[in-house]
Amino acid sequence: MSYQDTQLLINNEWREAASKKSLPVVNPATGAEIGRVAQAGQTEMDAALDSAAKGFEIWRNTPVAERQRVMRKAASLLGERIDTIALLMTLEQGKPIAESKAELMGAVDTLNWLADESRRVYGRIVPPRSMNTQMQVLKQPIGVVAAFTPWNFPVNQIVRKVGAALATGCSIIVKAPEETPASPAMFLKCFIDAGLPAGVINLLYGVPAEISSYLIAHPTVRKISFTGSTPVGKMLAGMAGQHMKRITMELGGHAPVIVCDDADVALAVKSAGAAKFRNAGQVCISPTRFLVHNSIKADFIEKFAAFTTKIKVGDGTAEGTTMGPLANSRRLDAMAKVVADARAVGANIVTGGERIGSTGNFFAPTIIADAPLNSSVFNDEPFGPIAGIRGFDTMDEAIGEANRLSFGLASYAFTSSLKHQHNLAQNIQAGMLWINQPALAVAEMPFGGVKDSGYGSEGGPEALEAYINTKSVSTVMV
Ligand code: NAD
Repeated sequence: MSYQDTQLLINNEWREAASKKSLPVVNPATGAEIGRVAQAGQTEMDAALDSAAKGFEIWRNTPVAERQRVMRKAASLLGERIDTIALLMTLEQGKPIAESKAELMGAVDTLNWLADESRRVYGRIVPPRSMNTQMQVLKQPIGVVAAFTPWNFPVNQIVRKVGAALATGCSIIVKAPEETPASPAMFLKCFIDAGLPAGVINLLYGVPAEISSYLIAHPTVRKISFTGSTPVGKMLAGMAGQHMKRITMELGGHAPVIVCDDADVALAVKSAGAAKFRNAGQVCISPTRFLVHNSIKADFIEKFAAFTTKIKVGDGTAEGTTMGPLANSRRLDAMAKVVADARAVGANIVTGGERIGSTGNFFAPTIIADAPLNSSVFNDEPFGPIAGIRGFDTMDEAIGEANRLSFGLASYAFTSSLKHQHNLAQNIQAGMLWINQPALAVAEMPFGGVKDSGYGSEGGPEALEAYINTKSVSTVMV
């Protein structure tokens, strides 16, 4: 199957924009335009709002068992279509086919988990203050959701929002990424084919700022969920605040990896190395600041450098590729800036540091050692295949450095000491900490950040809570 143009989804109908405007979609491995995506304007935004408002009335009155059935059916259809959708994802985003498939298998799992969790959105009966009174707490869907999702995980960034919205009885308008539009559209088609009523899910593409400013201000929309960069997140949170809308913000990170003197170095290299270069480092929870105890630093750097030599950079559709191109040319420019800064301050470029070839957005896996704390690699989210390494002597020093930045999303540590593990769990300022393992963002665990990395959670029961209004009802029996 070849790549296809992508349309908007409104009221369970696929359609072009009335203006006939569309945007190009480029394969990041070749630089070639491979398709177009419809560009919504005012007409389509209004139609999507109208559709979502009607969809909400239907879905909130649909019994939870039926909601669960539709979600599970969509998950099953997605499972059957993995090969087809994975190819679209790789063509538009660049990641190796195996990673596209893993992302889609993760989406199936998340959707099934949220479908099951939908049956456990319990209210409660509170013991009353007098015996002729009933005091109830009701959990009700928040309403129409507007979700804005990025291009790094074209489907996984959507499934957490759509799944939680559907599980709680909300309808949703997704503004999906224009750079990677086909795989999200094919993912959402699974819901339509599973029998989802019209209007419950709507899909727009267009100019992000136009769509977000219109939807966030619109009275039909009651909740905003955004995944993307911290500066854009702050701007959207400000707009949502002006209109008193509930928000979930999943933003940037700059994850520290603390490798203690008692760590299994081979495990640390294998786990954190694989996590660093997954999706060419374009992951909000990607490990970036490697803080390694000085007694093992030289050994760690040597093994980490050897690890990168085994990474096969290439077109994600080619057999054997383990790291694809960067998803767009903005990332190439960003990588060049980080490396130029490191060179200027006299850091040691241990591996990589260069673009590969002149066609496609390929960049070599890069390790930068001993850059000063004020260098770019130790401050700016690279969102690409660059790791910085520095040494430390005490745990206080390592934790102080881990907490220094305004980001607080993911963090990692490698240590066999229970004392260190307890210290880290208590004192790391991050929404997530993985010890002695790579990131494992499973559906049943909370997923989200603190500080400038955002607020709210996209995993665990907390993910559903974000789509629910809590209502107190007290009744005196007369
Ligand atoms: P960007 O800040 O321009 O955009 C990030 C995302 O926000 C994109 O999906 C974009 O479509 C969307 N966006 C931008 N302006 C918007 C607006 N006004 N309204 C609604 N959505 C808007 O940066 P970029 O070059 O696309 O991505 C690079 C940076 O974005 C990275 O450095 C990284 O910090 C961040 N990012 C984070 C994630 C994540 O998973 N948290 C994913 C992708 C990008």
